[in-house]
Amino acid sequence: MFLNHHTAGRNALDTVAKNGVAGLPAPLAHVYLARSGVATMCSAGRANHAGTMALNAYASFRDEKTTHPAPSKASGTVDGNDVSYGCETENLGDGEDVYPREQYDAWVRINAAVCRHHGWGPESVGCHKETSIEGKVDPRGPVEGYGSRGRFEYTPSRFRADVAERLRHEPGWSPGEEEEDPMAGMDKDDVFSAAWDTDKLPAPPSAPDADTNTHWTASSYLRSIYNSQVRQEKEIAALRAEVAELKKES
Ligand SMILES: [Zn+2]
Repeated sequence: MFLNHHTAGRNALDTVAKNGVAGLPAPLAHVYLARSGVATMCSAGRANHAGTMALNAYASFRDEKTTHPAPSKASGTVDGNDVSYGCETENLGDGEDVYPREQYDAWVRINAAVCRHHGWGPESVGCHKETSIEGKVDPRGPVEGYGSRGRFEYTPSRFRADVAERLRHEPGWSPGEEEEDPMAGMDKDDVFSAAWDTDKLPAPPSAPDADTNTHWTASSYLRSIYNSQVRQEKEIAALRAEVAELKKES
């Protein structure tokens, strides 16, 4: 699984990558994500970021369940550093410090990239507060915006939805670049006319004017099918009458 954190401070790259903290040697995450949106890879192996995880919470990410139970120590525990990647995202973590737009965007990209690499879905993405039995609250706080969305509050489920959206697109996609809706601004009559009068199909080869009238509207096609069926029914009726006549004669 991929586990997300806030640093609860500023400019902690050296701490995370090199120095560590008292009782906890570096690296303290696999990725350090600065407010600028610049990510620094700090470890390619085990990193001390996750602490002890509740087994029930961890299992829900490992098995990619659609819901994640509150971490319960009674369910058992695992060493989170054995089983997860970690990203330390620069933020004071006081619930007021804002994650800049470019930082949140990079954050979603990093999570999605790791999921893509491993063939994981968005339910492999979690937050420290969702797994910790030590009462962690990270990450939290307001986000400046994302895609066409304005300011909002960071939540794990919102974050997973953003990772999920990203995974539905090509890696080069950017949020807010929505596909144009070909039916935007059309009313019922426009839709009818587009479907029945404007859309054209190649004329059936048997049509007498197929050389000159090469494309037909859908309604012309329907009329042609109707006429052809009426003609065939007449022909069948005539054949039946002929057969009946022949039977009488024999
Ligand atoms: Zn944390």
